[in-house]
Amino acid sequence: MMQKEKEIGLQAVRDAMTLAHTIQNEMTGLDTLTKTDRSPVTIADFAVQASICKILSSRFPCLPIVGEEDSLAIRKPENRELFAKIAHYLKKSGLAMDEKDICACIDLGGAEPDEAYWTLDPIDGTKGFLRGEQFAIALALIRQGQVRLGILGCPNLPAASGGTLFWAVAGQGSWKVPARGNGAQPIRASVQTDPRRMKFVESYESSHSDKDTQLEISRRLQISNPPEQMDSQVKYGIVAAGSAEIYLRIPNPASPDYREKIWDHAAGSLIVEEAGGAVSDIDGKKLAFTVGKTLAGNRGILATNGKIHQRVLEIIAELAAKK
Ligand code: AMP
Ligand code: MG
Repeated sequence: MMQKEKEIGLQAVRDAMTLAHTIQNEMTGLDTLTKTDRSPVTIADFAVQASICKILSSRFPCLPIVGEEDSLAIRKPENRELFAKIAHYLKKSGLAMDEKDICACIDLGGAEPDEAYWTLDPIDGTKGFLRGEQFAIALALIRQGQVRLGILGCPNLPAASGGTLFWAVAGQGSWKVPARGNGAQPIRASVQTDPRRMKFVESYESSHSDKDTQLEISRRLQISNPPEQMDSQVKYGIVAAGSAEIYLRIPNPASPDYREKIWDHAAGSLIVEEAGGAVSDIDGKKLAFTVGKTLAGNRGILATNGKIHQRVLEIIAELAAKK
């Protein structure tokens, strides 16, 4: 099951990794726009969404795509010069498209969640992408509210070798392969049970989580090193591959209305679970991919190697009770 979806999805993400990496190295400040929610979006977000949507829609015409971006911003007259750049990079990637095609392909990602659908974050961690640091291309297939296939392209993990591609199929385990090579290997979450030897990862951006509470939790666990910051779902890849034991995302009190987006967690959460790790929200509830484009029924995220999951949930509850 999922063989064709997996093969085409992997190829689409692998091609997009090269596309995104090239843009990251050549981009200037002029290639970035600010969205209405004030978050940045770049020519790479648009090029990757156009490229992956074009491939998926031609091979799976009946499967809707719920993507993060739309073409509204680049269709504004003042941003038109960005088209030439997006078209240039798509052409380099083997996809000749004019303005109309680019907009149409980006907007193929404008579907709503359905019985079965793809969800895509073309550049997860755009802020990391702009700093020249970690980002991920995240693609997942959801059917009946369950993530069935998750693919994460991490072009800078490490950059020198072209990065790493992670994927998981529900019930079939998690895998990684160098983006420029063959030889897929199964991955497993860490078997470490001693918190002092665990690695704790969190977002780089301070506004995306509650870092003070996260630091307090890592202290209570007696983890020797402070949390390590990195952008995007790369954090899930690292937990799944056994290089870190805890990824915690406590909602930032400054943005109480923020709800996590499905495309920020679908692929990564399946990859951790299929590697033997555990994923829940900070109340211990399963992530519910059944309520639209957000995880409206969940608060925050906890992904671990499984061994330390309950303990972290207990500390979160203890701290909440004190407040
Ligand atoms: P990360 O690098 O793990 O923080 O993930 C980047 C993602 O954080 C982006 O794709 C945004 O969708 C998401 N994000 C933006 N604002 C917030 C917020 N206030 N709280 C939590 N996540 C956010
Ligand atoms: Mg994202």
